[in-house]
Amino acid sequence: MSTIFTKIINGDVPSYKIAEDENYFAFLDINPLAKGHTLVIPKKEINYIFDIDDKLLGGMLVFAKKVARAVEQVVPCKRMGITVLGLEVPHAHIHLVPINTIFDIDFSKEKLKFTTGEFEKLAADIRAHL
Ligand code: 5GP
Repeated sequence: MSTIFTKIINGDVPSYKIAEDENYFAFLDINPLAKGHTLVIPKKEINYIFDIDDKLLGGMLVFAKKVARAVEQVVPCKRMGITVLGLEVPHAHIHLVPINTIFDIDFSKEKLKFTTGEFEKLAADIRAHL
């Protein structure tokens, strides 16, 4: 059984796509902690981030950097926070979250809600800054 993220990569489950290349995919988190909360994943289905081989793992951070630079141009913030949890979806992913305070990246807090139109516009705005 493939993960929900593999289904997203394959287009079998819809997502608000931000970027894609041969090895990686980035899309908006559906339950965001902050506007612009983005997930970066390897296309190869690997559960635990530290099981990713060195070259693919290194490239994932470089890909995440490009995405983070685009998000921060659309969602002004002090920093792009970067976190790895992986407790819910068994497909390695980096959370990129625009933050101004430490509380902005508290995963126990209530998630934000956006309409489909708002997600679509945000994704398009971010893609325009890649
Ligand atoms: P974690 O595995 O890092 O604990 O959390 C998984 C993250 O993936 C959560 O922030 C959750 O909102 C996000 N997520 C889970 N399923 C989907 C989905 O189908 N689409 C999108 N865009 N995000 C998802």
